[in-house]
Amino acid sequence: MAAEGIVILGAGPAGAAAAIGLARMGEPVVLVGEPRRFAAVEGVSARVVEALRGLGLQQALQAFAPPSPRRAVWNGAYAEANVESLVDRQRFDRGVLDDLEHLGVAVVRGRVTALRSTPGRHELEIDTEAGPRSLVADFLVEARGRAAPGGGAARVRGVETVSLLQYWQGPAGETGSAVLGVEDGWMWMAALADGRRYLQLTVDVASAALPPKRALGDYCSARFRAVDAAAPFLRDAEAVGEPQARTSTAVLNESVVGDDWIRVGDAAMAVDPLSGNGIFQALSSALQAPAVVATLRHDPSRAALAQQFHARRIEHLFYRFARIGRDFYAQESRWPQSPFWGARRGWPDAAPLHAPVAPEAVRIARGPVVCEGRIIEEDVVVTPDQPLGVWHVDGLAVAPMLAALRAEGGFALEKGRREALLCARFGLQPARAAAVLAWMQAQNWLV
Ligand code: FAD
Repeated sequence: MAAEGIVILGAGPAGAAAAIGLARMGEPVVLVGEPRRFAAVEGVSARVVEALRGLGLQQALQAFAPPSPRRAVWNGAYAEANVESLVDRQRFDRGVLDDLEHLGVAVVRGRVTALRSTPGRHELEIDTEAGPRSLVADFLVEARGRAAPGGGAARVRGVETVSLLQYWQGPAGETGSAVLGVEDGWMWMAALADGRRYLQLTVDVASAALPPKRALGDYCSARFRAVDAAAPFLRDAEAVGEPQARTSTAVLNESVVGDDWIRVGDAAMAVDPLSGNGIFQALSSALQAPAVVATLRHDPSRAALAQQFHARRIEHLFYRFARIGRDFYAQESRWPQSPFWGARRGWPDAAPLHAPVAPEAVRIARGPVVCEGRIIEEDVVVTPDQPLGVWHVDGLAVAPMLAALRAEGGFALEKGRREALLCARFGLQPARAAAVLAWMQAQNWLV
């Protein structure tokens, strides 16, 4: 059987973003996916909705409710911290498949049941409504989320965590969500305008005393009923069906790219859902993936550079989100003896979320960057807080500017002369030069 080009497995946010990016670049791409099998609601920030809009996902966006308040009861304090848009994930995933077809991406609706990979050839077996089907591709994008087989590669795992999701139905009402800490974990609750409510209890796998599966429904109902903050979500509502258990342990695959394959989204690394950043991080890795794939396919001399770019970025994102989660867990100090909180406030390490930057530690180095759909090597500014390097700020390459400023004495140079230097050497208008300088100063790049 002739190979199809690129096959993407999985039609969640990551698979969709990778498919659209590759199709826009004119790459031959087929996506194989089935919508998720269980109902779930998740919350995302405005920037995620904007990113999805930018991809041209029209149907999938219909699955989002308008932004609503996200309330928090954390460390005993009540806050109406921000807003989030609640998304019906089953509807979203179905919409993604329709959108992809609309955007001209070849889609096979079905479940991948087998995958055999040899160098340059990936053979798939797929269960579709019309029966079994085979497909061969020369490049594989693995985007099946947490369900993606690990292939035996090493993984970094956070503290083992499980989330129990219980669906309740009540009368129509207001949309909104709330997060709160409890002694053995945390709860997230969401209400949709049509009366659906999704209540999620996240606990520690090792220490949670969970009942047998058949008693989980009553257990979850009792846990939610025992909490004041859950009352608005339970009012006049009934639990429906059995709770769904979702693994929510943070996971980093140590092997995320090869010569003819790449992992994106949760298949590469999955974050703790407490941050509410899962879809955001899945998009982050998938939006850059097309440039990596195109480089691997068309510019083998830069294959190692492209692989380094993807692998380092995934690892960097993983630890960044892990530390954000750690710091959020550490803010909840009511249960110092609780195994749940104790294990999470120290993982993954004690390194600060943002490493302090002193001008002496800022250096210029060669590093991989995305340029016109390829990964190439350029001068970037590397700092303890930006170990992957900064190439462009507001469309301007900053390494040559920093080098020029340093050569002339950095901040020892009088302010007007610094601006004049950038204008003369790099053709900037004075206001733009002043903005770049202010930005560098805020980053502590210059003595
Ligand atoms: P997924 O969205 O998991 O997509 C994978 C796709 O592949 C699915 O459509 C699936 O059906 C398909 N698939 C799987 N196996 C096969 C197969 N064999 N054949 C064909 N198709 C297949 N993120 C947020 O931003 N906000 C939240 O509030 C939030 N809450 C969460 C709560 C919990 C308990 C958990 C576990 C996660 C939560 N997340 C949240 C994270 C979010 O769900 C993921 O990070 C995000 O969906 C990852 O996108 P993805 O495209 O990589 O994978």
